[in-house]
Amino acid sequence: MAKKIQAIRGMNDCLPEQTPTWQAAESALRQLMSSYGYAEVRMPIMETTGLFRRAIGEVTDVVEKEMYTFDDRNGESMTLRPEGTAGCVRAGIEHGLLYNQERRMWYMGPMFRYERPQKGRYRQFHQFGVEVFGLHGPDIDAELIMLTARLWKQLGVSEHLVLQLNSLGQPSERAEYRQALVAYLEQFFDQLDEDSQRRLHTNPLRVLDSKNPDVQALLHDAPVLSDYFGEATQAHFTGLTALLTAAGIEFEINPRLVRGLDYYNLTVFEWVTTSLGAQGTVCGGGRYDGLVEQLGGQATPAVGFAMGMERLVLLLETLNSAASEPALADIYIAIMGDSTQTAGFALAEQLRDQLPELKVLSHCGGGNFKKQLKRADKSGAGIALILGEDEIARSEVTVKYLRGQGEQQTLALDEVIAQLKKVI
Ligand code: ATP
Ligand code: MG
Repeated sequence: MAKKIQAIRGMNDCLPEQTPTWQAAESALRQLMSSYGYAEVRMPIMETTGLFRRAIGEVTDVVEKEMYTFDDRNGESMTLRPEGTAGCVRAGIEHGLLYNQERRMWYMGPMFRYERPQKGRYRQFHQFGVEVFGLHGPDIDAELIMLTARLWKQLGVSEHLVLQLNSLGQPSERAEYRQALVAYLEQFFDQLDEDSQRRLHTNPLRVLDSKNPDVQALLHDAPVLSDYFGEATQAHFTGLTALLTAAGIEFEINPRLVRGLDYYNLTVFEWVTTSLGAQGTVCGGGRYDGLVEQLGGQATPAVGFAMGMERLVLLLETLNSAASEPALADIYIAIMGDSTQTAGFALAEQLRDQLPELKVLSHCGGGNFKKQLKRADKSGAGIALILGEDEIARSEVTVKYLRGQGEQQTLALDEVIAQLKKVI
C-alpha cells in the first residue's frame, strides 16, 4: 500500500458530524449581521508581507514568530493572513470605501498562525470579524459589544462568557505612560523573564500582558495607564460604560487588558470563558483610529473585533454534548427492480420541486429491499417511499413509515405529496 499522506499539523478537517454545529454558528452570525445592517466583505487569504508588518507591528507575537511567510515564484514576500483587519483596511483604502463614509462590514474565513497546536489553538483557524469605519464615538463601540451579547444569548452561551473592558488611551497618553512604566520596570530588570526583558524597550505595554506570575507580581505596584488619561479619553470610556449599563450588559474593567496587536487605541475588550481551559478568549477587539492612515489612507476612525470560530464551536459542543445529530434525510426513496432508477429520480425531483424544505435521499448502488431499508433507517428518514415495477405500472407509490407513525399504505402518485404534507 502507498504511504498515507496526513494533514499539516494544526490544520483540521471539519468532518460531517461537526459541520452542523459550524453551520448553526455561521448562519446565526449571518442573520445577526443582517439584522444590524452590516455588509459582508471577502478578502484574499494571502497578502504581501509588508501589509501585516506595518499593520500589526514588528514587536508582536504574530509578526515576530507566528506568520506563514514565503517568497512566491517572483521572489516577492507573501504571507497567509494571520488576521482580517489589515486586509480589510487595505481593501477599504484600495476601493475608496472609507474616506468620508460610514461603513459597517463583516467577514468570516480561515486565518493562519504558526503556533504550538493545542485545544483551541491551531495553525489554520477561522475568524468571524467585524470592522466599522468612519465613526468615532463610544456609541458604535457599544453597538459592537451589544451585537456580540445578542449572539451569545441566541446561541445559549451567555452564562459562560464574561466581558472584559479597558481603555488604552491615545498614543500621546500611552507614550507618557510608557516612560513611567519603563522607569519603574528598569528597577527590577533582573527579575523579569527573558521575553519581558526584551519587550521592556521595544514594546513595554506587552509586559503587562505577561502570563508569568513573577512578572505579574512585580506589576502590582507599577504605574497605571488610566492615571495618564486626558478628559476626552475618560469621556469616551465613561460614555461606553454608561451605554453598556443601560443595555443591561455586565462587564469587568481589566486594566491589564492590552491585546496582542499594536494598532489599538481607546476601547479594547474581550469576551472570555472559563469553560474551555486555557484558551479562554472567544472574541476580542477594540478601536484602531490610527490604522487607516498608517496604511496610506486618509485618517478614518475605526473599531472592530474578531471571534475565534473554533473556540465558539468548542464552547457550543461542550455545552450541547447531548444534542443529537440532525437526520440527513426526511424521505428515503427505495427502488425495486431493474428499470426503476429513472422513475425513482423523477419522483425525488418532483418532491424537491414541491416540498423544497424536505431532505430527500435517493437510493443509489442497487441491492435488495432489506439493504435499502437499512440504508433508509441509517439516514434518519421518517418515511421510505418505495417504487417497484408493479407500483410504476399502476402509477403508485408505497409509503412506509419508519418511525412507527402509521401503517404502510399504497397511494396514487399524485396523492403522495398531499399525504406527505399532512404527516411531515
Ligand atoms: P490568544 O491570546 O489566545 O493568542 P490573540 O490575542 O492572539 O489570542 P486575536 O489576534 O485577538 O487573538 O484573535 C481574535 C480571536 O481569534 C481570539 O480571541 C481567538 O478566539 C481566536 N484565535 C487567535 N489565535 C487563534 C489560534 N491560533 N487558533 C484558534 N483561534 C485563535
Ligand atoms: Mg495569539
